[in-house]
Amino acid sequence: MIALKYSVDGAIADELQGDALRLRQILINLLGNAIKFTETGTVDLRVALEENGGDGALLRFAISDTGIGITKDKQAQIFDAFTQADASTTRRYGGTGLGLAICSRLVQLMGGRIWVESEMGRGSTFSFTARFAVPVQSSVADAAPAAPINTAPLYLLLAEDNAFNQRVAVGLLEKKGHRVEVVGDGLGAVDLSARHSFDAILMDVQMPEMDGLQATRMIRQREGESGSARQPIIGLTAHAMQGDRERCIEAGMDGYVAKPIQPAVLYAALVECTANVASGSSDAPEVAEAAAASSLDLSAALERCDGDEELLAGLIAIFREDWPGYLQRMAADIESADSGALSRSAHAIKSPLASLGLEVALAVAVELEQMCIDEQLTGAGQRLAVLRRELERVDTLLALWQGEGQ
Ligand code: ADP
Repeated sequence: MIALKYSVDGAIADELQGDALRLRQILINLLGNAIKFTETGTVDLRVALEENGGDGALLRFAISDTGIGITKDKQAQIFDAFTQADASTTRRYGGTGLGLAICSRLVQLMGGRIWVESEMGRGSTFSFTARFAVPVQSSVADAAPAAPINTAPLYLLLAEDNAFNQRVAVGLLEKKGHRVEVVGDGLGAVDLSARHSFDAILMDVQMPEMDGLQATRMIRQREGESGSARQPIIGLTAHAMQGDRERCIEAGMDGYVAKPIQPAVLYAALVECTANVASGSSDAPEVAEAAAASSLDLSAALERCDGDEELLAGLIAIFREDWPGYLQRMAADIESADSGALSRSAHAIKSPLASLGLEVALAVAVELEQMCIDEQLTGAGQRLAVLRRELERVDTLLALWQGEGQ
């Protein structure tokens, strides 16, 4: 029994253009080998951002296993055609010795390189790089500095008095999958940030009653006194005036965005401010967990099946068939704002998620059910999108597990 895990660097853009077919073939080959040559332990896929230019990104994929390993001299030839680590490999594991030669060719075609690190008896890591293009952005975004503009879903507080500006900011943030609470003045921000811990606070500088600078000072003072986690604060000002930045930083803010907000500038500021925040610090556990590396560990699920792999395989097959239907029902319930029905469908999906140990998806389903109990469906669609994304990822891993399982 082996665990399959994967993680994707949060700095990688949601949309990149490249050769999906080639990439899929490389990954299937390398993951297939890793699973084939590993008896127990973990197969782990990591994707990191190696280089990020204005028009393209170089990603690094690393597939690690805890399997049999490969000797030093075999490592040198392993990417040549018809090479297998030794003749007994063919007898024991089958294969043609062509897979890695093909991977090596495909990686070259994608503008990257491939290499292996391995230790006998401990496992191997196959790494490769590949180039992707960044899709053409709108002219507004083009004018903004090139930066990795995507973060994992965040739990944010927006303090802004102008209803129109609120709509603009919330629209931009929700588009990126973030969840946003809105208050209309500085006092509201001080109050709400004392009761919840946000991944970041977007704070308008000019507001009635208490302005953003004063609110920031109060929040920082309270954090200092109570020793609670520091919530990043990004200032929003109406005019990009000289000295604004200094005044914001001096008050205790971490960054600054001038209005009218340019989407790419806002997203880049969020990336910058939240990069150092340890996930799990916010009050939205499901968001933090979704942000953290998703993984699939079926060992607990297998235990619940009393170690019966066949039973587990059956459950996985049923779940893979059923989950799109569950989500479709939930989408319809949200559409018709039927919290009773949504509560039932969210409840129904919880038990397969719990049985299979799909913790991230389970946390989102629990939250959706809670939203129904509270009769507060704002943001339910967004939560459903997070659930869908997570289940799509999990489904890929489950399919792989099924393909390799006996
Ligand atoms: P095959 O079709 O024989 O698996 P590959 O080109 O994919 O051909 O792999 C060549 C050889 O490299 C394999 O037969 C095996 O000996 C070795 N190998 C590949 N991946 C691994 C791995 N993750 N762990 C140990 N050995 C591996």
